[in-house]
Amino acid sequence: MSTGRIASVSTSIIDVPLRRPHKFSVLEIGHQSLVLVRVRTTEGIEGIGEGVTPGGPWWGGESAETMKPVIDRYLAPIATGHDVADIQQVRAIMDEQVSENRFAKAALEIALYDAWGISAGLPLHALLGGLVRTAIPVTWALGAADADEIIAEASAKLDTGQHASFKLKMGSQDPDSDVRRIEKVAAALVGRASLRVDLNAAWDELTAARYLPRLQDAGIALVEQPLPAWNIDGMARLCQQLEMPVMADESLRSEHDALRLAMTRCGDIFSVKITKSGGFTVTQRIAAVAHAAGIPCHGGTAIESPIGTAAAAHLYCSLPAVTYGSELFGPLLMAEDLLTEPLAYRDGQLHPPHGPGLGITLDEDKIRRLTRT
Ligand code: MN
Repeated sequence: MSTGRIASVSTSIIDVPLRRPHKFSVLEIGHQSLVLVRVRTTEGIEGIGEGVTPGGPWWGGESAETMKPVIDRYLAPIATGHDVADIQQVRAIMDEQVSENRFAKAALEIALYDAWGISAGLPLHALLGGLVRTAIPVTWALGAADADEIIAEASAKLDTGQHASFKLKMGSQDPDSDVRRIEKVAAALVGRASLRVDLNAAWDELTAARYLPRLQDAGIALVEQPLPAWNIDGMARLCQQLEMPVMADESLRSEHDALRLAMTRCGDIFSVKITKSGGFTVTQRIAAVAHAAGIPCHGGTAIESPIGTAAAAHLYCSLPAVTYGSELFGPLLMAEDLLTEPLAYRDGQLHPPHGPGLGITLDEDKIRRLTRT
């Protein structure tokens, strides 16, 4: 039985304001820009997807402004005409005809899955193999703000009882003052909260070997990607040197990266993301490699809106290897909700929706208002 074919693919850029500026190692954003992908089938069904990067091309070379033309001109024609369930075939042709552009491919793959799920009357998590957990814990990401600002925001979150785990961004200042800043935060919060830091590849190995033990002594529970993506050997040496776990993020994009990282023990934990890996398919392969190597996975984020966050929740809750929680806090950082009914965050956990496809409905008035013209 055919569930219909892909009739058209359209895209638009949406700019969503944030509740507060979010600071990464190299830039600060006050809004998040995303590419909204709409796939329409011959049966009149619409599937939606989101293309998003952490605030611009600094992380992986892509941005909302690069994704839109790549999807419009190259990826959309590949998908058009295929049966809505032909995802692996569309995927293979996309990889054959378009190198890299993983964030753009992820956006389209999410929309294809949504259209397939709605056509089949099944939630995405059922198409992805079924739930292995009904919800996933969410770590709150605090950005690279001043120590006092971070302590105030984390304390307020702790008071609500919603979050007890926080991720701090580093790498935006010189290592010495950056480490002093984190030590001050740790002195105020360790014992009440679990703290982790993300260097976003900002340090060289010498700097990391010198400063990471200080963060460990301060009670930091985990360090994410201290070294540049290419420095696999250096990351493996840090894993040996440190007692606190080292999480690989920028070094891990493809299933081939996953195999290499697992073989060299570069990363005690893998951060998986649908965005950086080009969709569900490759992320599933990465999680399978991690599973085979006994490496726990953490459900990462590129600060997705509720669209990409719902997609991630479906996948992370259906992957047995994702045992290390998530940082799916994107919708909570946004000042506008794009859905008619918000995603279900309860007790510090995100529960995937249960309707067909992504299981979400866009607030079209809001989408119109936030669409870039
Ligand atoms: Mn990261």
